[in-house]
Amino acid sequence: MKLSSYLPEVPAFAQQMSDLNGQINMLQLMKASGDTGQAPTIGLDHVVNTWVRHQMAYRQQLVMDLQTIAMSVEEIRGPLNHITSEVFRRGFDWEPLTEDADSAELANFKKFLTSCNVFDQSLEEVLRQVHFDLNSIDDCFIYIAKEYYDDNGTLKSKVQEIRRLNPALVEFDLDNSGLPKNYHFFCPIHREEIHESKGICPEPSCKFETKPAMYKYYHRNKHLYLFESEVIHLSKFSPSETYGWSPILTIFEKALTLIGMDKNLYRYFFERKMPGSMMMVFTDDPESLRRERANLAAQTRLDPNFVPMVAVSSKNNRGRVDMVRLFHTLQEMDYLPVKDEIRERVSAMWGVTPAWQGSPEAFGGLSTQTQQLVVMSRVVEGDQRLFHEKVFPQLLQAFGVENWNISLKVPEEKAEATRISFAQQRIAMASQLNTMGFTIKLKEQGVVMEEAQFTIEGEVVPLTQLQGEQQALSIEQQKDQMEQQAEMEEAPINEESPEDDEEYDPDSDETNIEMTKALDQHYADAEAAEEDDEDVDENYNVITSKEEYDEYIERIGN
Ligand SMILES: [Zn+2]
Repeated sequence: MKLSSYLPEVPAFAQQMSDLNGQINMLQLMKASGDTGQAPTIGLDHVVNTWVRHQMAYRQQLVMDLQTIAMSVEEIRGPLNHITSEVFRRGFDWEPLTEDADSAELANFKKFLTSCNVFDQSLEEVLRQVHFDLNSIDDCFIYIAKEYYDDNGTLKSKVQEIRRLNPALVEFDLDNSGLPKNYHFFCPIHREEIHESKGICPEPSCKFETKPAMYKYYHRNKHLYLFESEVIHLSKFSPSETYGWSPILTIFEKALTLIGMDKNLYRYFFERKMPGSMMMVFTDDPESLRRERANLAAQTRLDPNFVPMVAVSSKNNRGRVDMVRLFHTLQEMDYLPVKDEIRERVSAMWGVTPAWQGSPEAFGGLSTQTQQLVVMSRVVEGDQRLFHEKVFPQLLQAFGVENWNISLKVPEEKAEATRISFAQQRIAMASQLNTMGFTIKLKEQGVVMEEAQFTIEGEVVPLTQLQGEQQALSIEQQKDQMEQQAEMEEAPINEESPEDDEEYDPDSDETNIEMTKALDQHYADAEAAEEDDEDVDENYNVITSKEEYDEYIERIGN
């Protein structure tokens, strides 16, 4: 009795498992090697590997189509050119990494800056091309062609050329399990012999080990295998183990729409074989109309300024003229807004904003424009970072430069307004923190206004405490003010009045006694006069004559 009699599907299933394992090499991968165990190195999974291989058959055509689109659609080529020119606008910057960096180290590299290949391209020109590939295809390949030589048993290399490789023609050299650097091997000096397994170079005089190929380049109907160290590959939008994914594929329909729209416009204005409109005249006498028209045309030919005069009978209203337009206007087709919309979407794919494409409506408020500048400078800095992190280190290494660093200068696209607005935000922040009770200090003395930065110390002080302190402070101030005022008022009096004589006694002052006596006598006289029914004036002087009386009446009457 066999197991398969009970469970007939088991053997087939086991066979299938074993086939699958064989296919994905998993059992071999998992096998422990000696004392150390190792997690498997997994190639591209089967689905992706099959897809990549399958796609490679069409890749050449696909990439070339994408390049054509990138070059022929203004809305794509414009932004891409713009980013590229911004990234390289201010050129390269050299920076010594150590204090005793010798510039002689750079001599070889600097020659390549002006002419780095047989076509006499400058390094910047090559990198610009590469950058365009990066943004359009999302794959770019820089080829560092090297000459290898045997220097007393060690392998040395010298850079011969730096070239841009057309992404349509470069492939990753992947084996059947989707692993790179595992398929073709060759000796750097004897490159024409390609081996399918690792080993020592079979040339009699050569003892170098063969190295694995990472890339293959399709050149004139045959494949050239290249080492990992000879090619720099970058993807920006969707970096993966292998190829990137072109953003043009994402906006493919939009790009084609733009091409269609441009063709349509071209036909509309340039190629149209039909008149724009047609006139239909309803008349009982077509012959005379035709004659009149021919006459008008002839007169106009003779004299372009001829003003025709046409008599029209209005006896019966049966005649009618209709104008039939054969074309729609651009407005009627909603053509322009649609195109603008697509244009904006397309350029947003690369982070380029309308301000950079010279569209006038983009120049709105200051803040919008500033925002757009910020977006743009971020894109540029991001792209420069790719070069700083992935391209330059490899180039420097290839030239054996150790004590210098090369970088792309950051474009100063931050407009004046941006910097000021940043400074404003910092200051507003500092002032808010100050209100909360922190101590704000200027970080550095003597900096320009836009770069002012602040340090913060102390703790949050509760609002009530702050208010209390403020109140106390203002009461203190009021007190001070009052004291000051009092002093001010006292001062002039002290100056003019005679000094206080503490020993002065009005009762013993003779003048005072005399004056008091005289005043008492005066009032006593007046009282006596009144009792005698005599008249007194307003100063209690006795009126003694008619003249005095009249004068008195006149005085009080007034
Ligand atoms: Zn060799």
